Amino acid sequence: MNYDIQKIRSYFPVLQQKIHNHPLIYFDNAASAQKPVQVLKAEEQLHNHFYGNIHRAAHFMADKATGEFEAVRTKIQHFIHAELREEIIFTKGTTESVNLVANSFGEKYIQEGDEIIVSEMEHHSNIVPWQLVAGRKNATIVQLPFTDSGELQLDVLEKRINAKTKIIAVAHVSNVLGTINQVEKIIKLAHSKNIPVFIDGAQAVQHLPVDVQQLDADFYAFSAHKMYGPNGVGVLYGKRKWLDKMPPYQGGGEMISEVSFQKTTFNEIPYKFEAGTPNITSVIAYGAAIDLMDETGLQNIGRWEQNLLNYATSKLKEIPGMKIYGEAPEKSSVISFTIKNIHPYDVGMLIDKMGIAVRTGHHCADPVMQHFNVPGTIRISFGMYNTTEEIDLFMEALKKVLAML
Ligand code: PLP
Repeated sequence: MNYDIQKIRSYFPVLQQKIHNHPLIYFDNAASAQKPVQVLKAEEQLHNHFYGNIHRAAHFMADKATGEFEAVRTKIQHFIHAELREEIIFTKGTTESVNLVANSFGEKYIQEGDEIIVSEMEHHSNIVPWQLVAGRKNATIVQLPFTDSGELQLDVLEKRINAKTKIIAVAHVSNVLGTINQVEKIIKLAHSKNIPVFIDGAQAVQHLPVDVQQLDADFYAFSAHKMYGPNGVGVLYGKRKWLDKMPPYQGGGEMISEVSFQKTTFNEIPYKFEAGTPNITSVIAYGAAIDLMDETGLQNIGRWEQNLLNYATSKLKEIPGMKIYGEAPEKSSVISFTIKNIHPYDVGMLIDKMGIAVRTGHHCADPVMQHFNVPGTIRISFGMYNTTEEIDLFMEALKKVLAML
């Protein structure tokens, strides 16, 4: 494969350092990915040359910043193959994107007695906003379960959809199990009954090419910080036919057309949903992260990471007492596991002393933990810059930790 891993690693200054006297091995990419120099430089460039508040001024600085900001909207449109750039709304992150839809869509379309289907493998941020709106509206959350191998039970989905179902919320890729869900099938099924689907793409867009038109997703959300971009920025894609009809989520500057004490009218999409000064710096720098993924090619990144996934899975399985959570045939580069009689937190703490960053705990997915009746797991997750050599070092370190415990 033509994948220049040394070149890719050279873009990430953070990877060149030592932590606790060991070269850093960063396996916590599902929580947040590291940032390449391109992103850091884009932020610096903005602040050194043309920072200004966007959309509202006639001066050079604001004009240039506005152009750069809006260019990123177009980049994202192409990145996920949305039909229109107006369908791309900048938010603070996936969490805010879910809250936006739960509140705005919920305000208009969810009434007492209605049902919202949410999968059992969701991150809390794709559960709690729906629970909040359901609580306000006296609606019900209906669970879509998964099997022990980590696959959504689509036959159950078919039975749980009924005339009261108003929306289905599901992750494209699970942040714990790594399952790549068959969202295209789910969307087809939902649309055959005129039900829209909200897809949480926070763990998908950095690993596999996403085409929202091909998926026919009604809503699709993700966060820049998991895609080698800055934190504090996310995206909500929504089909124009929904966004046009949905009421504003937050009020403030930019989202209005005219304001008077008698009557206020609202701006067009996407601005109707972008109240106040957005995270100008981070959106502009996010563009550089998108460029890097485009240049490297998501197909190539995905293939590279699949190799890491397969390699690490087979190595982990050699460890006595190993249990891996999530063994769906279509998986992304996330592995959650426990080792018999070992507390995940102890592994996380000790392995950190060897310069290796892994995540331990419930991964903001309590229902997944409840499914398997465990308080938490150890999770390793790979990004475009990880290597099989790092997996070898991790395995050595893990064996040392297990010997200590
Ligand atoms: N959804 C999934 C599947 C996630 O993995 C995460 C973060 O880990 C989120 C949503 C929330 O993302 P953010 O904290 O960037 O809003």
